[in-house]
Amino acid sequence: MKNLLTTDFRNAPYWWDAAPLAESTGDALAPSYDAVIVGSGYTGLRAALTLARAGRSVAVFDKERPGYGASRRNAGFLGRTLKKSYVDLKAAKGAAYASAIYRDLSMAYESTLAFIAEESIDCHAVRCGRLVAATSAAHYAGLDRELAGMKADLGLPYAMLPRARMREEMATDLYQGGAVIPDLGSLHPGLYHRGLMERALSAGVAIFGNCEVTAIAQAGQGEGFRVTTTAGETRARDVVVATNGYTPKNLPWHARRVIPFTGYMAATEKLPPELLEKQLPHRRTVIDSNLDIDFFRPAPDSPRLLFGGATANGLTDPAAIAALLHGRLRQALPDLADVKLSHVWTGQCAGTFDMMPHIGCHDGIWYGMGYNFAGVPMGSYFGLKIAQKILGLQAPASAFEAAAFPTLPFYRGSPWFLPIAMRYFAWKDARLARSA
Ligand SMILES: Cc1cc2nc3c(=O)[nH]c(=O)nc-3n(C[C@H](O)[C@H](O)[C@H](O)COP(=O)(O)OP(=O)(O)OC[C@H]3O[C@@H](n4cnc5c(N)ncnc54)[C@H](O)[C@@H]3O)c2cc1C
Repeated sequence: MKNLLTTDFRNAPYWWDAAPLAESTGDALAPSYDAVIVGSGYTGLRAALTLARAGRSVAVFDKERPGYGASRRNAGFLGRTLKKSYVDLKAAKGAAYASAIYRDLSMAYESTLAFIAEESIDCHAVRCGRLVAATSAAHYAGLDRELAGMKADLGLPYAMLPRARMREEMATDLYQGGAVIPDLGSLHPGLYHRGLMERALSAGVAIFGNCEVTAIAQAGQGEGFRVTTTAGETRARDVVVATNGYTPKNLPWHARRVIPFTGYMAATEKLPPELLEKQLPHRRTVIDSNLDIDFFRPAPDSPRLLFGGATANGLTDPAAIAALLHGRLRQALPDLADVKLSHVWTGQCAGTFDMMPHIGCHDGIWYGMGYNFAGVPMGSYFGLKIAQKILGLQAPASAFEAAAFPTLPFYRGSPWFLPIAMRYFAWKDARLARSA
């Protein structure tokens, strides 16, 4: 096979070029904090920032460099995304529940954009719109039903795009039409995370990189928690677990409830601007309609295409990942068949057994996790909500707070069943496609 990689190829997120990971901030561990946060992604830092600005002393620990997790690795799609369709949720649990859930997704999305604007975080946040590309005629019909239901009940805008007009949005004949959701957005996830981290540091948060939290134990009635880290022990009145797809087995209650899986992404080399413009003339984000999605977007800061898919395929070798992803690229956008890839990377996401994100408090320890590929807005929002709870503020509750966080008997955090689940998703998509 011809070489698919540029000579300066990096097996690292494209986002790290503009927002490289910093080393630890060099704070000395204090004997106690008001709050300790495990995980330095959007969830942890948004909680930390809110608590610190309210006058609490806060320490954030990350077992890797701060921002090493999915928050500096994701695709930067901002939306009202849930693995459970609105129409199905309404049929199963009633209109009031479904609209409360989807209104909360909207709140997460809008509040994240508002926060970025208020804080002047320069991270290319835009309402670029999203194209959902239908992989079959039946998917197209299902997409229309879903979006029509959401428009009727929630007033959310969309426009269907028949197959004959697809090339107005994307240089492809692969899909059977699609839908444009004009108000959804995107950002540069690395610059967003860096902006959040800078603000947390300015507010006085101590951020410890390369420092793993190895145990959390109740210190005694009303005395908070003893937190053991690789840098020593400290105490905290409140503890937040914000580890999502990186949740370790030594937090067994949480590890039993999230299903870690690997997401895959790549960046093309710099493209002639007119070639890139031809691929995605409106510079929207694109996902396809499968359960196991392929996704595409222009880079916000250089003429490249960023894309991903083949989730949880099990590959770890960068050359093999590049070959697989390049195949997806050639299939969707044949004009790019000869372009090389400058970056290939992976990151850990977290699924859940009910396919819903979860926020809550167990045994006195707060958590927000299980974002099912939608943690840019949801992680930011849950971080804020958790901090509001800790501060005892009378803020509206999240609709996601009410649900119990399910697990399965004998599940301990090693998802041996993932390959079977991914094959099941592919079978479901194929069955739906045949039903047209
Ligand atoms: C390839 C990919 C593409 C994605 N695309 C999108 C997208 O377009 N839009 C979207 O909304 N979402 C997307 N996501 C999901 C999104 O990135 C995540 O849901 C979100 O970043 C989770 O943020 P977080 O703060 O909860 O966790 P993370 O950012 O993952 O941070 C968790 C941190 O916890 C640390 N940690 C774990 N255990 C310990 C311990 N014991 N002690 C100390 N630290 C610990 C880890 O090192 C890690 O840094 C994508 C994810 C991936 C991987």
